[in-house]
Amino acid sequence: MPNRNDLQRTLQRIDNKPYPAYKEIKGSYSFDGFTLIIDHVQGDPYAAPSRLRIRMPLEVAGFPEELWAQRSRREGVCSHLARHFGRVASRFASRSGTGKSGMIGIDAPGQEVLPTTACLLADDHPLELRFTVGLPARGRTILGNSAARILCADVPEAVEQSLLYRNLDGEVIDHVAQVNEDADALRAHLGERDLIAFVADGAILPRRSGIDPRPLEKAPIPFESPAALRVTINLPHAGNVSGMGIPRGVTLIVGGGFHGKSTLLEALEVGVYNHRPGDGREQVVTDPSAVKIRAEDGRYVAGVDISAFIANLPGGQDTRFFSTLDASGSTSQAANILEAIEAGCGLLLVDEDTSATNFMIRDQRMQELIAKEKEPITPFIDKVRGLWEEKRISTVLVMGGSGDYFEVADTVIAMENYRPRDVTGEARAIAQRERSERRIEGRRGFGDIRDRAPKGESLDPSRGKKSASVKSRGLKAVLFGNDEIDVSGVAQIVHPGQLRAIGEALLRVRELADGKRSLAQILDEVENKIDAHGLDSLVPWVAGDLCAFRRFELAAALNRLRTLEIAAGREQP
Ligand code: ADP
Ligand code: MG
Repeated sequence: MPNRNDLQRTLQRIDNKPYPAYKEIKGSYSFDGFTLIIDHVQGDPYAAPSRLRIRMPLEVAGFPEELWAQRSRREGVCSHLARHFGRVASRFASRSGTGKSGMIGIDAPGQEVLPTTACLLADDHPLELRFTVGLPARGRTILGNSAARILCADVPEAVEQSLLYRNLDGEVIDHVAQVNEDADALRAHLGERDLIAFVADGAILPRRSGIDPRPLEKAPIPFESPAALRVTINLPHAGNVSGMGIPRGVTLIVGGGFHGKSTLLEALEVGVYNHRPGDGREQVVTDPSAVKIRAEDGRYVAGVDISAFIANLPGGQDTRFFSTLDASGSTSQAANILEAIEAGCGLLLVDEDTSATNFMIRDQRMQELIAKEKEPITPFIDKVRGLWEEKRISTVLVMGGSGDYFEVADTVIAMENYRPRDVTGEARAIAQRERSERRIEGRRGFGDIRDRAPKGESLDPSRGKKSASVKSRGLKAVLFGNDEIDVSGVAQIVHPGQLRAIGEALLRVRELADGKRSLAQILDEVENKIDAHGLDSLVPWVAGDLCAFRRFELAAALNRLRTLEIAAGREQP
């Protein structure tokens, strides 16, 4: 294998040549203590940067076994190493030259700790870090000496500072491993205790802004559980941790505007993921099958049975196999719920701020004025108990606007100045005293939920001459062939790497969807493949920018693909 000096000589030789001469450096090079692999060389200075890898034997990296032998710890350590390498490398980045010249980048996880292909650590595998470098140029002329400095001096220096255990702060690394293991242990405790979420005392929930997910800097009020809901859980590292346990069933979060209701619900949404130390939500965990539900008017819907919520449309359209290119607020919210259930959701998270009013409530006066026969919508309030009692699907609902929900709630939490109070008893007493005359509507219970079998041929990833073109745009969209799948309403996609992986996984869905397999079976198979062979198995190249995603978000992307067709005839009426 050529070594560092060979790479250096090659780069000096191609100095001043036209940019395509860089293609020559593709390959593996042995460096002092590691191998540098150049997997892909960009075609010009403005193209996506070149993709590289470092492989370092575990003995050289020197990480003690307790940091990588167990999955939770390993994931914490990997997220940290990727972030740390990114920070160190950014100090070396020299932005002189055209396009992406001199940029060293890594696709590290953000606040959430996510399994990522940017950093791999396993006992049967060298420590591997995948990153990008913008190979430098002036115009389209190779800057060979500056490339040699980046690849043969800066990168090895960044590797030395960020991948050798002896150069790292051992306490910090231990801490990231332990915090992540504790979070997984905490989530595992939920089921045993019949809880669907836990929010530790002292947690910091508010964020800097809608686009800055770091913890609020200015005097955040730490979370403090009401005594009635306080539970104590013993964790492997942190020991006994106390906080608010939210029981299964139907939970209302009430309270005046601006008192922190949505902030709590948002923390529960991302509580399906672990958080990095310092985030404030390291010990906020939610049932892993929780799905945020919102109204999303304008979305596409393919053959979903929304008849539990919507029936007898004036146009006579069948709502047991409902399709539309432009769903209304209420139909989109109904479809979001049914699709989440189809994918295996056990907890619905709903916020009045992002719900359709007519989907959530229909009060007594409206019932008097508009007869049920004239209202296709059966509101959520009449279905939320059926979901729990028949299907064991819990709901946490932020509802400051309607006390009608008191009747259907098992637990009521009031937020007051960002502090939760257990008001279940008070809410019940009010419901007893001031009986609502509203009638329960719709058929009793929730009813059957029908499987759908997608047709693979309705997913067309081709674009121009390419048989498959899949790209993603931040957290907002997947470009699948000629179709743009809008996922901006899907709250629990938190990292662009997840959406990239979801885009690739859709290709796998396409292969599996034969018009017979149910969507749930397809999701199982995709998950099994990733469990067995890793995220790498999603693409035929070496990718450093894929992050783990959940089946719910993959289903969400599929369900929003505007060409998706469902095979009729499978348990259809
Ligand atoms: P609600 O949904 O009840 O109307 P929000 O959750 O939107 O309220 O919170 C209102 C504002 O208060 C937001 O700007 C949020 O960042 C801030 N906030 C929420 N929780 C806290 C807290 N614990 N400490 C300080 N500020 C908070
Ligand atoms: Mg709100």
